[in-house]
Amino acid sequence: MAIERLVDGGSHEEDRDEQIIEVTLRPQTFADYVGQERLKTNLQLAIDAAKKRSEPLDHILLYGPPGLGKTTMATVIANEMGATIRITAGPAIERAADLASILTSLTDGDILFIDEIHRLSRSVEEVLYSAMEDYKLDIMIGKGPGARSVRLDLPKFTIIGATTKTGALAAPLRDRFGHMYRLEFYNPDEIARIIYRAAGILGTKVHSEAAELLSTRARLTPRIANRLLKRVRDYADVNGDGIIDTSITTKALALLEVDELGLDVGDRNLLQRMIEVYGTNPVGLSTLAALTGDETSTIEDFYEPYLLQIGLLERTPRGRKATPRAFKHLRMHQQDTTES
Ligand code: ADP
Repeated sequence: MAIERLVDGGSHEEDRDEQIIEVTLRPQTFADYVGQERLKTNLQLAIDAAKKRSEPLDHILLYGPPGLGKTTMATVIANEMGATIRITAGPAIERAADLASILTSLTDGDILFIDEIHRLSRSVEEVLYSAMEDYKLDIMIGKGPGARSVRLDLPKFTIIGATTKTGALAAPLRDRFGHMYRLEFYNPDEIARIIYRAAGILGTKVHSEAAELLSTRARLTPRIANRLLKRVRDYADVNGDGIIDTSITTKALALLEVDELGLDVGDRNLLQRMIEVYGTNPVGLSTLAALTGDETSTIEDFYEPYLLQIGLLERTPRGRKATPRAFKHLRMHQQDTTES
């Protein structure tokens, strides 16, 4: 069963129809970028050092669940460096020649952001090794016995790679990043700040209790916070005077079937199926995917990180397990349904 999810971290493509808003909501500087303090301190240091030496930044790998601000951070870094950023994604670079044409079009100091870098093919990855390490491009000219390899000089660029799973990255590629940072889930206070900031940009008035309420429903993820805010704003515009207060927020969230932990129908279905079929026993990822009709990557990237973070799911060497807290949470919801 494919469930269209409001609360998954979502993909960038999915935001395309809202791109104009997304662009304006995206923080442009470290000062605008809420949270991730350790990451910002480390990056600020790296940027100051690179600027002082008039050198490009070392390559940076950002990893963590979708929607936590990896792409945003890449654009912030480019702004703080005063550099031009080119944005692409692993699946878009199909052949080594595609990468070669991107790399040769860069100039000194440029930043190349590669989203979903774990999805690069091996042949493309291999071209990237010498490009990242020595700023050289090895290309084969001709075919058969007459073929020869030519080494081209490349400009001194910086790669910023983003991935949801570092484990899927080949070790030689991982080793070529001078910086590797994990983006953490945000805390509700930080999410509330993100909501206020976005509401300000959207020109929507949001009461502080409503922002607090929303901040506990957004899966500790900025993309979801912004998305929920927009949906609640729609509700407030249609059913109220456009002001987002607690009453409007509660009603809109109920309509969206987002519960008090930020779970939606998809999450609850996953936990419910696990509990019904496996009880307290562990279950393997592919079995779980078959059980819910989701892709294994959807479970790994979207459902699992947050469920693990809030302690509803546990990972054991023998598979995933629903925790006592998950049992309790679901039972609460079953009661809600039977009572109403
Ligand atoms: P990722 O690349 O990790 O999937 P994005 O960088 O696309 O996530 O972030 C999703 C959205 O969330 C962005 O459009 C931006 O508006 C918002 N966002 C992300 N991080 C922050 C932050 N630290 N502060 C404010 N807004 C943020």
